[in-house]
Amino acid sequence: MQSDKYEVMKDIWKSKADSNGTQKEVALEIYHHKEHTANLDRMMNGMKDALSYFSENFGEYQHRQLRIIEFPRYQSFAQSFANTVPYSEEIGFMLNMKKDDIDMNYYVTAHETAHQWWGHQVTEAPVQGSSMLSETLSQYSALMVMKHKYPKEMIQKFLKYELESYLRGRSGERKKELPLDLVERQQYIHYRKGSLIMFALQDYIGEDKINLALRNYLNKWKFSEGIYPTTTDLTDEIKAVTPDSLQYLITDLVENITFYDNETKTATYKELGNDMYEVTLVLKSKKIVADSLGLETELPLTEWIDIGVYGEEPKKVNAEGYKFAPLLYLEKHQIRKENSTITIKVKGKPVKAGIDPLNKLIDRHPDDNVKKVEKE
Ligand SMILES: [Zn+2]
Repeated sequence: MQSDKYEVMKDIWKSKADSNGTQKEVALEIYHHKEHTANLDRMMNGMKDALSYFSENFGEYQHRQLRIIEFPRYQSFAQSFANTVPYSEEIGFMLNMKKDDIDMNYYVTAHETAHQWWGHQVTEAPVQGSSMLSETLSQYSALMVMKHKYPKEMIQKFLKYELESYLRGRSGERKKELPLDLVERQQYIHYRKGSLIMFALQDYIGEDKINLALRNYLNKWKFSEGIYPTTTDLTDEIKAVTPDSLQYLITDLVENITFYDNETKTATYKELGNDMYEVTLVLKSKKIVADSLGLETELPLTEWIDIGVYGEEPKKVNAEGYKFAPLLYLEKHQIRKENSTITIKVKGKPVKAGIDPLNKLIDRHPDDNVKKVEKE
């Protein structure tokens, strides 16, 4: 039970008009302590953007209202009940964020809203892997809302945070690390690794395709009674939309425990004139599969991996209020051997460059992916 002399912030979310011109309306409410108003807009926008993305990509929201209700920091979590989300002041209302920080408030709101689909429309069978179907899918859904709001240079901060949390989590595992599709309430897997894997899947296979798979999965299992899905039901839908050439990703990322060791050994540039530069990268790459006890086997490389070049960090914040070094170049290159050299041309002076700069792949040494570019 939650009780207080709450102030209430109210708004209305409207869906896109259907073929008859009808829009679904959802009454949005945030019940908060009088003085805790600093982040209300972030939460309100989070609910709106999440409802829009999820209803357009997955299916209709089932209620006429969605509410967030603040509670004091006796506990530090938020949880999604049907149309109602209790939300700790500690992880939302009282957060002090700078513009360049990851907006955890917006993100947590989108995650809890996603449970209105993953958990409240599809209930998973209580077996190994079940939290992938609720928590990982909610992480993915929230991450897609973020992807459409923030530049990719900002998303990297979030992916790096998830990657470091996953690596820390597995180093403290006391039983067995399991692959994502067999996760047993291991938070570092179903939240942290789950975000990374799903981000990589949509990056390689396509956001539209992954959302189609999720829509098919939702339509098959929505409000099912007596029989509930397991992760095989989800991965079968993802496999069905994945071309043959990329099926290995589902095996590697979801069904196995796979790591990359990508490293930029040297990064140099040559001036070509007219603000054009030639960047040469000497790279080292490895792909490794680990079993549940940590025994590792090297796998052959055939991967397409992002190669990126960053320009200079601006002196002042840009029009949107950000201040980060922009990517001058970001393309996937096929990496077929442990040692490779890649040469690319960019417009604008290169400052840093490397392999998998956005930390989309699970790499145990993410800090050596990108290096300062030196003059040749
Ligand atoms: Zn959750």
